[in-house]
Amino acid sequence: MSTQPATMREPARDVPVVAEADVVVVGGGPAGMSAAIAAARNGARTILLERYNHLGGLASGGMVLVLDDMWDAPLNEISVRGVCLDLIGRLSARGLAMFPRQHEWGKDADAIRRWTRWGAFDFHTQDKPHPIVFAAAFDPDGWKRAALEMVAEQKVDLRLHSWFSHALVEDGRMRGVVCDTKSGRQAILGQVVIDATGDLDVAASAGAPHIGGAYMLTTVFRLGNIDTDAAERFEYEEPEAFARVDKDIKRLIGGSWAHWWLKTPLPGVVWCNCPHMTGLDGLKVEDLTRAEIQGREHIHQAVDHARRHMPGFERAVVIDVAPQTGVRQTRLLDGEYVMTKEDLAARTRFDDAVARGRDYTTPYRALLPKQVENLLVAGRHYSATSTAQKMSREIPPCMAMGEAAGVAAALALQANVNVRHVDVRRLQDTLRAQGADPGDQSDANPAVPAIAPGEATPPAAATTARIDQRRAA
Ligand SMILES: Cc1cc2nc3c(=O)[nH]c(=O)nc-3n(C[C@H](O)[C@H](O)[C@H](O)COP(=O)(O)OP(=O)(O)OC[C@H]3O[C@@H](n4cnc5c(N)ncnc54)[C@H](O)[C@@H]3O)c2cc1C
Repeated sequence: MSTQPATMREPARDVPVVAEADVVVVGGGPAGMSAAIAAARNGARTILLERYNHLGGLASGGMVLVLDDMWDAPLNEISVRGVCLDLIGRLSARGLAMFPRQHEWGKDADAIRRWTRWGAFDFHTQDKPHPIVFAAAFDPDGWKRAALEMVAEQKVDLRLHSWFSHALVEDGRMRGVVCDTKSGRQAILGQVVIDATGDLDVAASAGAPHIGGAYMLTTVFRLGNIDTDAAERFEYEEPEAFARVDKDIKRLIGGSWAHWWLKTPLPGVVWCNCPHMTGLDGLKVEDLTRAEIQGREHIHQAVDHARRHMPGFERAVVIDVAPQTGVRQTRLLDGEYVMTKEDLAARTRFDDAVARGRDYTTPYRALLPKQVENLLVAGRHYSATSTAQKMSREIPPCMAMGEAAGVAAALALQANVNVRHVDVRRLQDTLRAQGADPGDQSDANPAVPAIAPGEATPPAAATTARIDQRRAA
């Protein structure tokens, strides 16, 4: 019989305070980096904490390589702008983002053939073949580089290799956070904390109400040495043979969306948004470990088969399995407003809308926890039902939420009020002035955004970025 005790008591200890700022953002994924950039641009001294060695979270480390859900089909416009478009512009200027040009949006057969394997199609419609829409395929290292530039331009104090451990809460207000690092535990203090960990680590630790969500896990991977032209010829010119091979690969991979491989801006390199692994909890060490082992088994079986049977894949090699495990949903905030699938389906225009996804808006209240003061939440763990989150968790809407949270934190500090009492009208106006679209107005956006790609954004200046459509050819 085991004599192992159920718990052990850690001795209390003093933790050195290593940094202090107005705003502390925890998590450097799409939401967190956008939040930090936005807070700093609006004058807040900002610290950004990230556990890994890079920025971008699932987008770069998770190698989720298409920015989608930023196209409003009913309004025929790009709905997510601001930091997200700025980033796409920078990537595009280096040839590291690819997206269809305006005249290719829609159902033209040539455009569908040219852009479907880039993932630039509207997968929310039942309409088949799916129409081509604005979405950007990007390179993960390009993202990391551009993200580092963007936070440096705004003088964000970046602390990588800092693993959030627990929240410091005094009298119901956030005081800061404690991180585990190679140098031991470190306290970082701030007046406002933004939780952008994706798993609600900070808000949960601070005692904010939340619910448990779950969705499949994926070990995304990339293949090199692919002749994508030959593979597409096979797909379009021998559809029946293609369908048989494609089905076998999807079975071996253990579940996938309709397109198990998509192109990237690097020639001959494709990314694979599979396998789909269910019944695993993205918060449990045992399940995360199982996902890595199981995922690799599926990948190698499927790739061996593709090498033998799929034209264009004869010389395929696995370049990498994403360093960050593909966890889509864990804890979700039970905040001041909980988004539902009905809100999304009805395309509800909230009075306090501060961010947009494809054709829906997100209210400021969905970023506000109950019970804990001076804490904001942004990204895939925002206040939504599990079903609603599955429909609204893509990278661009998470960036829009992050940008809104960052501006809100800075405005709260300027007005000397709790984040709960931010003037939402001012927040919306500030976001708009900086090139974001908070979603509070029904006027359509100009179809083509207006500034040059790769332009540095001065602090507190207008930020719209013109996407150079010619580069995407
Ligand atoms: C397999 C898969 C495929 C997807 N496909 C697409 C797609 O094609 N297009 C699309 O737009 N979206 C896609 N998504 C969704 C999208 O990637 C995420 O919803 C989005 O990245 C969420 O952004 P986020 O910033 O909220 O969270 P994350 O991207 O998860 O970022 C959270 C950040 O916080 C850091 N962090 C977490 N915990 C701590 C801690 N304790 N201490 C310090 N740092 C911490 C993480 O390292 C990470 O950098 C996909 C997701 C997955 C998993």
